[in-house]
Amino acid sequence: MKPVFKKYHYFVLIVLFTLFFPISASYAEANSVNVGNDFTEKDMTSHLLVYVDSNDLTPDQILERQDQFVPFSQADIDGDIADLDYWIKIDMQNTSDRAKELLLEIQKPHLSLVSLYSENSGSLNLQETIGYSLPFDERIIKHRNLVFPLHLDSSEDIHTYYLKIETDSFFQAPITLWNYVSFSANHSDSQMLFGLFYGIMIAMMIYNSFLFLSLREKTYLYYILFIAGFTILQAIWDGYAFEWLWGDYPWWALRSNSFFILFAALFGLLFTKHFLQLKGIAPRLYKMVHVFTIICAFTLIIPFVLPIGMATMVSTIIATLFALFVILIVIKVRLRTREAKFYIAAWSLLLIGILLNLMAAYQILPLNALTLYAPKIGAMVEVLVLSLGLADKIKRVTLEKEMESKKYYMQTLMQNFFKQMSSVKEHTLLAENGLYTLLYLTKLEKGFYLQKKNAAWEVIVQHGDLSLDDSFHIDDQYLSRIIYATDITPRSFGVQDTFGTFLSIPIVCENHTGLLIVCGEDQDQIDPYQKEKMIPYFQDQFTVLMDNLMNYTSFKESAMYDHLTNVLNRKYFLEKANMLVKEAQKAEQEVSILLIDIDHFKRVNDTYGHTIGDQAIIFVANRIVDTFKELGFVGRYGGEEFIVVTSHVKEQEVINVANELRKSLHSHPLFLNRNQALSLTVSIGVSLHKGNSITSIKDMILEADECLYRAKNAGRDRVVLNTEMKVR
Ligand code: GH3
Ligand code: MG
Ligand code: MG
Repeated sequence: MKPVFKKYHYFVLIVLFTLFFPISASYAEANSVNVGNDFTEKDMTSHLLVYVDSNDLTPDQILERQDQFVPFSQADIDGDIADLDYWIKIDMQNTSDRAKELLLEIQKPHLSLVSLYSENSGSLNLQETIGYSLPFDERIIKHRNLVFPLHLDSSEDIHTYYLKIETDSFFQAPITLWNYVSFSANHSDSQMLFGLFYGIMIAMMIYNSFLFLSLREKTYLYYILFIAGFTILQAIWDGYAFEWLWGDYPWWALRSNSFFILFAALFGLLFTKHFLQLKGIAPRLYKMVHVFTIICAFTLIIPFVLPIGMATMVSTIIATLFALFVILIVIKVRLRTREAKFYIAAWSLLLIGILLNLMAAYQILPLNALTLYAPKIGAMVEVLVLSLGLADKIKRVTLEKEMESKKYYMQTLMQNFFKQMSSVKEHTLLAENGLYTLLYLTKLEKGFYLQKKNAAWEVIVQHGDLSLDDSFHIDDQYLSRIIYATDITPRSFGVQDTFGTFLSIPIVCENHTGLLIVCGEDQDQIDPYQKEKMIPYFQDQFTVLMDNLMNYTSFKESAMYDHLTNVLNRKYFLEKANMLVKEAQKAEQEVSILLIDIDHFKRVNDTYGHTIGDQAIIFVANRIVDTFKELGFVGRYGGEEFIVVTSHVKEQEVINVANELRKSLHSHPLFLNRNQALSLTVSIGVSLHKGNSITSIKDMILEADECLYRAKNAGRDRVVLNTEMKVR
């Protein structure tokens, strides 16, 4: 059978190989190895001759083909996967003065059968056969690598040994000759490094398993299985799997390599897919990866059904595709997400490890413990970085989930609050509702609502015990944005206390400028979610509510009040007065209607024009409001005629107040400019009733009108009452 899988691995599988293939480079011509007195160790690669046998030759037949052996470096067989026998010839000469006990080590444990023959007087004697297809315990030297003991007599003669290597997997033969002392020194050094490596890998698996058990996050499971597969694969390549795990099960040992390549590729990809959230970032690539993982899952059966060579080939193809997918994913995802950064960093570190090792192999870098074990260190660091990345991601996801559920809860809560608040029809009440809602949401203890009125700020609602100044000076910045402050004395607000947390929210709309302020004793009582989402949302919604309410109020007011004088218009006055009259009727209290008409107003218009006439009407209206504000309310009944209703006011007081109005117009006329005053007088007709004598507002107005008529007729500037039709 011809080699079926050649060359190809050089550019793709280099990654896989360097992970377990200690450096070997061969240049010199093969010659016999000289074992002198001070011999310690020797890399045998340049001393090997090799013959590739495709015909299952016997040892004797091999001896006849001495001339067909070629130096190992020329044979170009490293890395072949083929069903062939490789015969390696090693010549040694013991030039020391005594017999030597040596060890011949093949640092590639994953070979199915390796037999050592010594050549003795024209024939080959089998010394020992070891390998994956034989139980571990049968080895003379129980080592993870394939190690043969050699006894070399001191002699002029050359000792010739043959190794017959049969492999179902990759062919490799990095061979070293040792004396016992340096072998065991080297063994314990590498043992320590490997111990560190496997220790960390197992620790990562256990640590992530705990996380998986507590978080139940699928990505962790894939990650744990990936590390498990990856670590077992390393153990297979290092020979530990056979030494510790399945040394008695050669059947499985032979298949484990391809099985775990497939296994690690499958879970590596599943992990990548979930960890990077590929579905959202690159849906098409996600689909491809998805299909590939399904294929991977099916190929897991291959090591059990196909011949081992074929299975190895399939697993190598899958591993190559895995590497290609990882590269594609990295290209697609780039550094877009935080996870991607961790992911790329992790794989890059592994790659750096492999490159260091390769550079040492090509003698660009010195070969030392660091460069030799760089791939292992890289793998270790990779797993650590991925673990960190995963923990970081899970932390963020958990936080986001928490935020999400909190957000949902808060939103529903706020919607309910706002629903309730939308029925509030008075702005102080709304401010109060807003303040309590905010206190509830932020869990803060104190707060107040400031409203700007005629350039001054006033507190309209307050909760909690606060020492507030009489006046407030609010900087403009507080009106332009939400301000969070910790540990401040908000003197500028006119608050004398010190707070750990302080929050001011401007509520600014067309007809309202307000500041909603809440504070608490402790530091930082407002969490990021509240800062980022809840409070801005609250501000928006509350401002809309306030705006609507203020618009509604101003609309309602504009419909109720007279535009010129700002007293109630006739319609609303009558409505309100009617209620008042009815109440007074029930309570058997005094109620009076006053009709007030400006005297000779036509003349004012004629003399000064309508603008001054309007001013005069406003002037008188204000004077009437000032005079009666404690006793009742005022309306504009017609052009320059006003109407007042009072309740609970006795007759004499009504007369007094009406005359007060008259007299005040005398004493304080309307100044048109510094020198010119316009003296205005009014005539007042009053209808006053109590209890049973109250008929209806309509009748009372008629009566007041009659009184007014009388007042006019009696010479104006006077008060006429219905009771006695008294004048003044
Ligand atoms: P009298 O003492 O009898 O009341 O004489 P008078 O001139 O005031 O007579 P009357 O009350 O009948 O006249 C009302 C005048 O007021 C008529 C109209 O020109 C004027 N007037 C009514 N409404 C307005 C207004 O809104 N602005 C101005 N400038 N004048 C008004
Ligand atoms: Mg008049
Ligand atoms: Mg009039």
